Amino acid sequence: MTETSHYLCIGCPLGCRLEVETEGDEIIEVRGQSCKRGDTFARQEHVDPRRFVTTTVAIEGAPWPRLPVATAEAIPKHLMREVCATLHTLRLEAPVELGDVVLRDAHGTGVDVVATRSLGRR
Ligand code: SF4
Repeated sequence: MTETSHYLCIGCPLGCRLEVETEGDEIIEVRGQSCKRGDTFARQEHVDPRRFVTTTVAIEGAPWPRLPVATAEAIPKHLMREVCATLHTLRLEAPVELGDVVLRDAHGTGVDVVATRSLGRR
């Protein structure tokens, strides 16, 4: 017996509505995608949904009070809240360079959180 799961592709602003048809653990077909990225996204989303985290972290001694950061790769979606909570507790000190690691191996994902811009001292 087959089952159909529904997802919204976030690969581009078109937002294709995707259907993944499965039989047991096996994916039989992906429908609704307008390009190959949608197929890849649907298969990943069905078995292991992942997202990039982009946010800001408090920083002392810089011209602005918050430093923009992001995960270097997408992390499991169910860990996003915990990673954001940890980032919320961080207090960095300027200067920070673009690409500096601000949180290593975020929650055991093997993915670092890095600065997405440089901030010097004020
Ligand atoms: S399937 Fe392709 S065209 Fe459709 S939303 Fe995803 S990336 Fe965009």
